Amino acid sequence: MLIDTHAHLDFPEFSGDLPAVLERAREKGVQEVVTIGIDLDSSRRASELAVTYPGIYATVGIHPHGARELEDTLLTRFEDLTGNRRVVAIGEIGLDYYRDRQPRPIQKRCLQQQIELACSTGLPAVFHIREAFDDFLKIVKGYCSRLRGGILHCFSGDWRIARICLDMGFILSIPGTVTFPKALEQQEVARLTPLDRIVVETDCPYLAPVPFRGKINEPAYVYYTAQKIAELRGCPLEEVARQTTSNAHAIFGIASNLRSTSTR
Ligand SMILES: [Zn+2]
Ligand SMILES: [Zn+2]
Repeated sequence: MLIDTHAHLDFPEFSGDLPAVLERAREKGVQEVVTIGIDLDSSRRASELAVTYPGIYATVGIHPHGARELEDTLLTRFEDLTGNRRVVAIGEIGLDYYRDRQPRPIQKRCLQQQIELACSTGLPAVFHIREAFDDFLKIVKGYCSRLRGGILHCFSGDWRIARICLDMGFILSIPGTVTFPKALEQQEVARLTPLDRIVVETDCPYLAPVPFRGKINEPAYVYYTAQKIAELRGCPLEEVARQTTSNAHAIFGIASNLRSTSTR
């Protein structure tokens, strides 16, 4: 069994045939999918999908591309969505200095406000960090003792940065790009990171792995990412599947209802 820890199932690419998409995923052993919010509307849609379909979980949050100063009323709306038991994290939140679509001070402020929300709701965070690891690490350091863990989705740092993030207790999420022949840095990270600190994702509809590169990605294809990781590490696919699923369950509190209510 596999879990796709980062998909955008509410995007228009899937609106026509989501049940068929999920069926194809199950045929490849992908029984569970975490669908990710990028703003208030998509977070609402994600939490609705999570109550509609078995095996789907949701996250809620504002992507750095839409970063803004979050007034209290908006933060309260997100907090309300976390009342849904199938909402398992705050995300995706972060800093994107590659596309730089919002002023950096606004991105930082928006990230901090949402890490605060993760801390106060007792949920982990799903981080989107591109070419911004220095600022991210500076910000997140102050929250590590209160934050119930975090996933660095589509991890794009080299092994040096990976080690720093692992030392801080984070989980690294490996996307389909690890199957690209030139993705040597990402392959090194996938090979060297302890298996109990890795999860797999599609980030669909984007970033389809080989042999579907350039096509619309979907949760079923996380199979090929897990297969590549197994090949890189010289271990059976079943071991990668079992351990990454167990890691995802632990951080999202899925199977064992680890989600803390004491801080709410
Ligand atoms: Zn992202
Ligand atoms: Zn995403």
